[in-house]
Amino acid sequence: MSCNIEISGLTKRFGQNTVLNNIDLCLKPGERVAIIGPSGTGKSTLLRCLNFLDAPDEGRITLGDLKVDAARASKADILALRRRTGFVFQNYALFANKSARQNIMEGLTTVRGWPAAKATDRANQILTRIGLADRGDSFPSALSGGQQQRVGIGRAMALDADLMLFDEPTSALDPEWVGEVLDLIRAIADGRQTMLIVTHEMQFAREIADRVVFMEGGRIVEQGPPDQIFGNARDERTRAFLRRVG
Ligand code: ADP
Ligand code: MG
Repeated sequence: MSCNIEISGLTKRFGQNTVLNNIDLCLKPGERVAIIGPSGTGKSTLLRCLNFLDAPDEGRITLGDLKVDAARASKADILALRRRTGFVFQNYALFANKSARQNIMEGLTTVRGWPAAKATDRANQILTRIGLADRGDSFPSALSGGQQQRVGIGRAMALDADLMLFDEPTSALDPEWVGEVLDLIRAIADGRQTMLIVTHEMQFAREIADRVVFMEGGRIVEQGPPDQIFGNARDERTRAFLRRVG
């Protein structure tokens, strides 16, 4: 199958610092791709550039029939990218003054323009899927870290996006909550949505990903099936990283 999501020549600079250097990546429909690499390497920036949370300087992003030239992106292009991507943040980024249900509804009412009743129904379905059917009225401060991140995932799921972006979804969690969040991601990774998952959980990456991408210094150094990257990496930088984290 050919790619329906294609990133080409994506480049991002912060001042003099080139944080993403000419990234090319091609994702097949339903493919689950894990991104690993040292911190400060541009992994978060890559995800953020895909929906213009950070504006990329150069390159092209193709999502199905939507083609966006980074240097010339219009407001309509950016909105369209955001409609088609769901983002799960490292530190959940929930609205503290909204309930779990309202957090899940937010994107549906604002980005999608759904009426409240329809968004409420959808949010209730999602609350059941994330195992929080009885916590819809709870505010984030009353939820555990694991529950908050499940709401964060639910909020992204609600949009039924073509591309789900996970930025180290378990790295801010106390160890006791990591398992339930990884279990939820496994449960929704059914091959229907394309997923780009930045993670420091190597075992999880190995098990969930169809392909693993190793990044360092703003570039893709090496990519391949999990068995190849974890068992038989070609590049010394990949092997050195895996020795450090393993
Ligand atoms: P990673 O997610 O791989 O740890 P990041 O994408 O967060 O890496 O960061 C890559 C580099 O970009 C780092 O050097 C970081 O300091 C820099 N950076 C990230 N965001 C900003 C920003 N908003 N302003 C300036 N520099 C940034
Ligand atoms: Mg990061």
